[in-house]
Amino acid sequence: MSKERTFRTEAIILSRMDFGEADRLLTILTPHHGKLRAIAKGARKPTTRKSGHVELFARTDMLLHRGRDLLIISQAEMTEPYLPLREDLLRAAYANYVVELLDRFTTDEDEAESEALFALLDMTLRQICTDSDLRIVARFYEMRLLEEVGFRPELARCVINGETIAAEDQYFSPAEGGVVCPACGEFRDGLTPISQRALHALRVLQREPWARVRALRLDELLHAEIERVMLGYLVTLLERRLQSVDFIRRLRSGA
Ligand SMILES: [Zn+2]
Repeated sequence: MSKERTFRTEAIILSRMDFGEADRLLTILTPHHGKLRAIAKGARKPTTRKSGHVELFARTDMLLHRGRDLLIISQAEMTEPYLPLREDLLRAAYANYVVELLDRFTTDEDEAESEALFALLDMTLRQICTDSDLRIVARFYEMRLLEEVGFRPELARCVINGETIAAEDQYFSPAEGGVVCPACGEFRDGLTPISQRALHALRVLQREPWARVRALRLDELLHAEIERVMLGYLVTLLERRLQSVDFIRRLRSGA
């Protein structure tokens, strides 16, 4: 993270919580300093102007000042409000989901990939503002996010024996993070069946640019199937991550 006492940055506001009498504690994503926590002084007073523009999800230009323990927002100017997220409940729910997912898969002040993550989140919030198919937006985002944080699912080879996957129905292993061929999958527990066409859709999501992904015509069944596979994988990863965070916490408190 920047060592200067004062620095300017763009930020997307991931979450806000009340802090003290009149302040808010924000979690923000920045392109060059990773995810940060910063205090917006007086943000809950209606009269505060200079740091008043701290709306959830909004893209904001900030001047940050390093206080004794915490970062303080000394100026904030909203540059992109993503207005439809404030006017449409469903779009707001999707925005909440993508922001929370990013928050859970990232660590404070980790600068690696933060530029790519910032660009991904900005693009996704714009898509959520305007697109008519929010599910495909969410799936594309999940796949790109997994790639950036190092959990790209293996979709070309069986994760058990390394065989190239043939064009037939397969299994998916959330624990191993990839496809399992029918021969390996037959007697294993904890696998999700995955149809040939769902696997094809996942590969398009993983490999193709947004324009090609958006052109996919997914029926209800296929949408439901790829959602089940992706959410199963995400939940498994997050549970494992939460356990490792708990483990580190226990080690620290024991030491
Ligand atoms: Zn296999």
